[in-house]
Amino acid sequence: MRCPFCGGPDTQVKDSRPSEDSSAIRRRRVCPDCGGRFTTFERVQLRELVVLKRSGKRVPFDRDKLQRSIDVALRKRTVDPERVERLVSGITRRLESGGEGEVTSEAIGEAVMEGLKGLDDVAYVRFASVYKNFREAQDFQDLLGTLGERLEGEGVLPEEGEAVPAPSDEAVAAPRRGRPARKRA
Ligand SMILES: [Zn+2]
Repeated sequence: MRCPFCGGPDTQVKDSRPSEDSSAIRRRRVCPDCGGRFTTFERVQLRELVVLKRSGKRVPFDRDKLQRSIDVALRKRTVDPERVERLVSGITRRLESGGEGEVTSEAIGEAVMEGLKGLDDVAYVRFASVYKNFREAQDFQDLLGTLGERLEGEGVLPEEGEAVPAPSDEAVAAPRRGRPARKRA
């Protein structure tokens, strides 16, 4: 593996161990030329996957890009990183093991929404709002119809004209980890 800092060809593996969910091998590497340190991940790739974008363009599936879009949706939310890693791995494996070597960006978006729905309501709404682009106001209405009551009840959705609350209310993300629900005043 070439050094990302100086381009030296002979980096050495210092340490090698499974990632948190054991779906990857994490290797810490050091470059003898410049002393640079970096980490690589070795993952199972069931097959080469091609993403068909809405524009009609085809690009290779990029797990890191999937991870980044999920990270953006989860920004400042208190969700266990291990669960996020499992979500990304799960979606990737599902896509890779599907019958097709090609998957639409829409199918990926649906898979992410499905996954986030079970992980964190706020992240789900954030992702859905970007993904669906809310080109039609009706989409947003439908979405709020399914989530609205629950979120309003937990003070997640702001009242009209109110700033979005700081994500300090852990109670919204916590229930699945067995913490007691916040008492209502
Ligand atoms: Zn180097």
